[in-house]
Amino acid sequence: MLEIKHFINGQESDDQGRYQDVYNPATGQVIGKVALGSVDTVEQAIDCAKAAFPAWRATPPLKRAQVMFRFKQLLELHKHEICLLLTTEHGKVTDDALGELTRGIENVEYACGAPELLKGEHSRNIGPGIDSWSEFQPLGVVAGITPFNFPAMVPLWMYPMAIVCGNTFILKPSERNPSAPLFIGKLLKEAGLPDGVFNVVNGDKEAVDALLHSPDVEAISFVGSTPIAEYIYKTGSANGKRVQALGGAKNHAVVMPDADIDNAVNALMGAAYGSCGERCMAISVAVCVGNKVADEVVAKLSAKVKTLRIGSGLVEGQEMGPVITKEQLNRISGLVAQGVEEGATLVVDGRDIAVEGNELGFFLGGCLFDHVQGDMTIYQTEIFGPVLCVVRVDSVQQAMNMINDHEYGNGTCIFTRDGEVARYFSDHIQVGMVGINVPLPVPSAYHSFGGWKRSLFGDLSAYGPDAVRFYTRRKTITQRWPSSGVREGSQFAFPS
Ligand code: NAD
Repeated sequence: MLEIKHFINGQESDDQGRYQDVYNPATGQVIGKVALGSVDTVEQAIDCAKAAFPAWRATPPLKRAQVMFRFKQLLELHKHEICLLLTTEHGKVTDDALGELTRGIENVEYACGAPELLKGEHSRNIGPGIDSWSEFQPLGVVAGITPFNFPAMVPLWMYPMAIVCGNTFILKPSERNPSAPLFIGKLLKEAGLPDGVFNVVNGDKEAVDALLHSPDVEAISFVGSTPIAEYIYKTGSANGKRVQALGGAKNHAVVMPDADIDNAVNALMGAAYGSCGERCMAISVAVCVGNKVADEVVAKLSAKVKTLRIGSGLVEGQEMGPVITKEQLNRISGLVAQGVEEGATLVVDGRDIAVEGNELGFFLGGCLFDHVQGDMTIYQTEIFGPVLCVVRVDSVQQAMNMINDHEYGNGTCIFTRDGEVARYFSDHIQVGMVGINVPLPVPSAYHSFGGWKRSLFGDLSAYGPDAVRFYTRRKTITQRWPSSGVREGSQFAFPS
């Protein structure tokens, strides 16, 4: 049985308090227990991070970046072990786990550019003999709270940049799959990071609330569901912290009559059912423009959804693993039943599938709905499972109105061959990340990731250039060196 502890000041520790079971969702078995940090544990981590801050703040950015270079090498060296942990505790298939880790490593690579990113801005001679520059100073102790669906990548969106900017960090990963973030975090010590600069406190609401209420935590990055994101944003802001809180999503893909339908259907399959739909950028609504397109898309999707290869993510060739918990399995099945009750056409019903040899696993087959309407629960709710809703509309404008009216605005995409339509769509759609013939437009590490509307609370997005701003405080210095011996009078007019 695995025992997953905290990692504070370079040491694993456990406060012998509360624990939670950790499951392998493919077998349905408990494989370990994770310590749930108490307020005392969080305060201990904060004290260590606070103590480590002055020396780390004074460490040149080049030296901080060199730690990240070694960290990247260690991540690559251990990638198979990390992917095994990801698949075992999350359920995603191995090549999907590798994709997640690779995107996480790209954020470490970006952080290696710290000396360039932190150069600041300089203006010479803003007035006679006066120079001025802005520099980006670290905040102090910052915290990250992360969801279950990307246990490696989402923490890597946060702490590499926070750390190279000179902050010290406390990670509170999801309690559902804590092994990979802990394993990865410990590699930072091996990479040469001083103790206390990076800490992991496992836990639940108690640990999160302790971070939110501590006067010594300067900023919080959160990724998770919208109700919790809103709570984190409001509570953290009320306590004077800088907060970025990324929330849930309902991502629409518009299929235009001129699209290459076979390619669009293939893209929809991966985007809707990959990782069992447990991605904040998963496509969960296909908006077909015209009945002809809809009929063709539904017929082609339905054949593919019925033949999805579903099983343990560790078995080569699988396309979809289990969902994360039994509760989530029941919740998704309940939403599918509600969709039927509310009048949508269930074209493929993935409930009650059995995976031979893994009968107790949390498996659900792909589900496909047609004739979904805007007022249905399955349309309005983030299902976060392998359920794709097809909506039929008459025009691109009608499709865009639906997307713009939805409470979420994380990602979207359009399949078309018409550049004018694509440009109009990307110009006017009320969504933060837009794909044109790209179903999962997750920005690269050199851009920033963030939705609109109730998919992001706060002003700055995750990773990329926004992360430099989020994890630093700007200071602007204005300087002149008057000639010695020259007497200067007082000036009462505002300097101009
Ligand atoms: P969640 O909101 O349940 O949990 C996220 C984190 O918040 C976890 O660390 C958890 O321990 C903590 N938490 C849970 N309940 C809390 C409470 N009452 N008070 C304080 N902290 C609490 O989310 P999840 O189920 O782990 O992840 C799935 C959700 O995350 C989906 O809604 C998905 O869309 C979203 N997500 C969003 C993005 C994005 O970038 N926008 C990325 C990944 C996941």
